Amino acid sequence: MKTLLIGEYREGKLLDSTYELFGFAAQLGADTAMLLVGSDAQLPAYGGTLYLADASVCGEYSPDLHKQLILEAVQKENPDYIVFVHSSYGWDLAPRVAASLKVAQVSEIVGLVDGGFEVGCCNAKMRRTVKPASGRGVLTIQAGAYPVLQPGGSPAVQKITAAGGGSLEFVGYEAAEKKDVDLGKAEIIVSAGRGIGKKDNVPVILALAKALGGELGASRPVVDAGWVEHSHQVGTTGQTVSPKLYVACGISGAIQHLAGMKKSDFIIAINKDKDAPIGEIADVLVVADVMQFVPALTAKVAR
Ligand SMILES: Cc1cc2nc3c(=O)[nH]c(=O)nc-3n(C[C@H](O)[C@H](O)[C@H](O)COP(=O)(O)OP(=O)(O)OC[C@H]3O[C@@H](n4cnc5c(N)ncnc54)[C@H](O)[C@@H]3O)c2cc1C
Repeated sequence: MKTLLIGEYREGKLLDSTYELFGFAAQLGADTAMLLVGSDAQLPAYGGTLYLADASVCGEYSPDLHKQLILEAVQKENPDYIVFVHSSYGWDLAPRVAASLKVAQVSEIVGLVDGGFEVGCCNAKMRRTVKPASGRGVLTIQAGAYPVLQPGGSPAVQKITAAGGGSLEFVGYEAAEKKDVDLGKAEIIVSAGRGIGKKDNVPVILALAKALGGELGASRPVVDAGWVEHSHQVGTTGQTVSPKLYVACGISGAIQHLAGMKKSDFIIAINKDKDAPIGEIADVLVVADVMQFVPALTAKVAR
């Protein structure tokens, strides 16, 4: 089986997520070629074929142009699967490529099961397994779902280019609004999940964060419900954090949350369900009612 991996380059830098594509291909047991619209000053550490287009000529993002480049590499490589990271780059380009090739697209893959691809459904509460009937397709993998794998070596570079800008013009990047809290730099984070029950309970979690000298984090439902500002959200659509201590209070451990915090040095989870998935990555799982356990812990810490 062969994959064509589509690397990512932004603002003059090869993105680390490019190496998650190698992690995915390794689990799939597939041979790889890679395409990158980037620069030969920032080549991936990988010893295989690299189709390289110059971003200073082709633009860091130009959907029609980048699609043409990918189609050219597809003609040369004839891959079974073309694989993107499920980023704003990948989720915009992937369907354009799938439509041009008239093959299936499978989006946001989080696992592999018996030759099929696992994707979330029912707001990520469940997973289903799908497989392109033709055995060929365009795939996007969820950021953080696969390990970063640096194959090492220097690529055999084949330079490619394409003409014409297409119907969309890339205008530029816009910096996100300045956040009131930078969880990325916090050494201790105590996060509130839906298990805390209601907005009135947020101060209980905040009190533990303060007692430990840390910051308040949150899972997405807590943010969506308006209990906590989005700047506190941890996960794929929030911040990626790597504190020394992460305390997850009433958080189940959905893959989108784990993607944002699994690199924490030490994880304590407080959950009334002993089988909650967060237990699989937690160093300590406290099976307790969060609203009973957290105030008691805060009192101990404060003493
Ligand atoms: C495209 C997409 C992007 C997403 N991005 C993010 C993201 O960035 N961040 C994120 O967090 N989620 C994200 N999600 C949502 C994610 O899939 C989960 O739905 C979410 O993480 C679940 O949050 P939770 O663990 O707080 O809630 P739940 O999954 O409802 O879990 C609540 C947990 O609390 C426990 N509990 C209940 N009551 C108590 C109690 N009294 N004491 C102790 N434990 C209790 C339960 O056993 C359960 O394990 C995203 C989803 C999608 C589809």
